[in-house]
Amino acid sequence: MEKKPPRKRARTEAGKNSTKTKAIGDDDEEIQLVEQREDQSLGVKKKQRVPAQFRNRLVKDMPLDVVFEIFSHLGPRDLLHLARTSKDLRAMLMSKNAELIWRAARKTIVGLPPLPNDLSEPEYASLMFDLYCHACKVPKGRCENIFWEFRMRLCKKCEAKLPEYNEEYLSKQPPEFRYPQILPSVLVDVSERGVYSGYKKRLGSNLWAKILRKEFHALQDDRERRKWLMRKENEAKAVRAHPKLCETWHAAQLRERSDQLNDIRSQRISDIMRRLTEIGWGEEVEILLSRGGCEWDDFEHHKSVRQSKKLTEYGWNGIKDELVEFLSECKKQRLMKE
Ligand SMILES: [Zn+2]
Repeated sequence: MEKKPPRKRARTEAGKNSTKTKAIGDDDEEIQLVEQREDQSLGVKKKQRVPAQFRNRLVKDMPLDVVFEIFSHLGPRDLLHLARTSKDLRAMLMSKNAELIWRAARKTIVGLPPLPNDLSEPEYASLMFDLYCHACKVPKGRCENIFWEFRMRLCKKCEAKLPEYNEEYLSKQPPEFRYPQILPSVLVDVSERGVYSGYKKRLGSNLWAKILRKEFHALQDDRERRKWLMRKENEAKAVRAHPKLCETWHAAQLRERSDQLNDIRSQRISDIMRRLTEIGWGEEVEILLSRGGCEWDDFEHHKSVRQSKKLTEYGWNGIKDELVEFLSECKKQRLMKE
């Protein structure tokens, strides 16, 4: 499918901050993705974790090999964050010399599929570890909707802007693009009101189509175009296998995270029950638990209880009163029935 386009820019220019392809017309909604592709691994504003003074000294005063030695102990997500903290750090981490650092960081992630040919190390790190929508960049929690073939994460709103890969879509592309399968596409489930309909549809990408068109139209003659088409087709074939590896890895990551969250929630309920017992409400909680049913369900799913967050002293003080109020009401109802 597509493999080369983005990568190519990325890869050739990753070290120097890549190019910024300009939008080309009919698909503004996706355009911003172009500029993001290179910058997505760097451009999003993030809270700074390293004091500015230290950052500046890191880059300006320390020998480069020492800085690289320090950075080589970081993971991909740390490097992404670090690269966003200052222009100097960004330039350093995007330099060709920094490739070893990114590679070392990637190797620390167990089971991570190998770096695909079409992406630079920072781009790959961004695809795998930046959890925002690469199109709108709106921080609305974790964006786990990944379009591997397009090399980007997309929230549902941005996904809805993708064109369907059909005759109409293909009719807008150069005729040469129809037979050799060089345009990337993704098969997705069709759901209605959040429920899987049993159908699937194929989506294309205006962004990718645009990048490929631009490359294609820049070629000088038929001979060059034929060579280009052949190359793109081969690259596309090579790229198609990679998403499968990524999907497997991503699914395992999601399972692991889900398990971790469940553990945290279970621990939180235990901690809350212990705290309630300490202030004299243990018996009521035990009654709720022994009876099960709706009341226990309501307690377990209470907004202050069902959180994937460790219970701290401060947190406990913030929820104590409402939980006592909740239990008081439960007790009152129970006594009325008895
Ligand atoms: Zn979005």
